[in-house]
Amino acid sequence: MLAELEPFLRSSKLPHLWCPGCGNGIVLGSLLRAINRVERDPNQIVIVSGIGCSSRATAYLNFDTLHTTHGRAIAFATGIKLANPNLTVIVITGDGDCTAIGGNHLIHAARRNLDLTVLVFNNNIYGMTGGQYSPTTPTEGRATTAPYGNIERPFDLIELAKAAGATYLGRATAYHNKLLTRLLVNAIINKGFSLVEAITHCPVGFGKRNGIAVPADMLKWQRDHAVTVQAAAQMTQEELADKVIIGELYSNPEPEYTEQYSQLVARAQNLGGGMGS
Ligand code: SF4
Ligand code: MG
Repeated sequence: MLAELEPFLRSSKLPHLWCPGCGNGIVLGSLLRAINRVERDPNQIVIVSGIGCSSRATAYLNFDTLHTTHGRAIAFATGIKLANPNLTVIVITGDGDCTAIGGNHLIHAARRNLDLTVLVFNNNIYGMTGGQYSPTTPTEGRATTAPYGNIERPFDLIELAKAAGATYLGRATAYHNKLLTRLLVNAIINKGFSLVEAITHCPVGFGKRNGIAVPADMLKWQRDHAVTVQAAAQMTQEELADKVIIGELYSNPEPEYTEQYSQLVARAQNLGGGMGS
């Protein structure tokens, strides 16, 4: 860990509770590097998390943080951003937290283009609660609740957020953590709803049940199955079938919700209207 990042950590809360070889620390390191690079006042940054292994990260961070209820991180973040639009609000969430119980909050925050940065730690499984399959578990992937293989089709998180109206989208893996940092910098800078998917590894949950329980092998899997956006453009759908496309996947600035809301308030006041009149 770089010395510059130490002020971002609550050393009294360490060591963390993540399993040996878990990818969460790598992903969190990328987020802290991104925060360091954007050089915003740490007192104006709020980090919100839901429930799950990745959401424990807020306990270790020396910012104003909120560790909320399962699936509701984006709902709490929405309230914070509307109460004080000057804050930089970052959401830490997992695939289960964000796309199952929290799926409705995700699509509507994206639809509004609310200025949030959502970092999804996608390890394809519910890690904390015992390895149940999540909406991003691949078809035929094994989990405690799918011991003979998952029969469901997984969400493509990026396509989901894009269809809902997100204005900045990127994907990287724990192995490609420098790329992940760059994507998170752009996501924080984007004035609108940004989502970055971090493919990460849960060796004791997904890995153990799917034949790659050694953390280094899971990192090698990420290395060997990732293709850049540019390379993917030259590949067929069959060639892309077991690949993960990484890089900046979408950037399309649109009017941001809190700015539109403040303009609406000003318009109402100029017209002599407003609440209660
Ligand atoms: Fe990481 Fe999985 Fe352990 Fe949770 S259960 S801390 S995601 S390795
Ligand atoms: Mg998960």
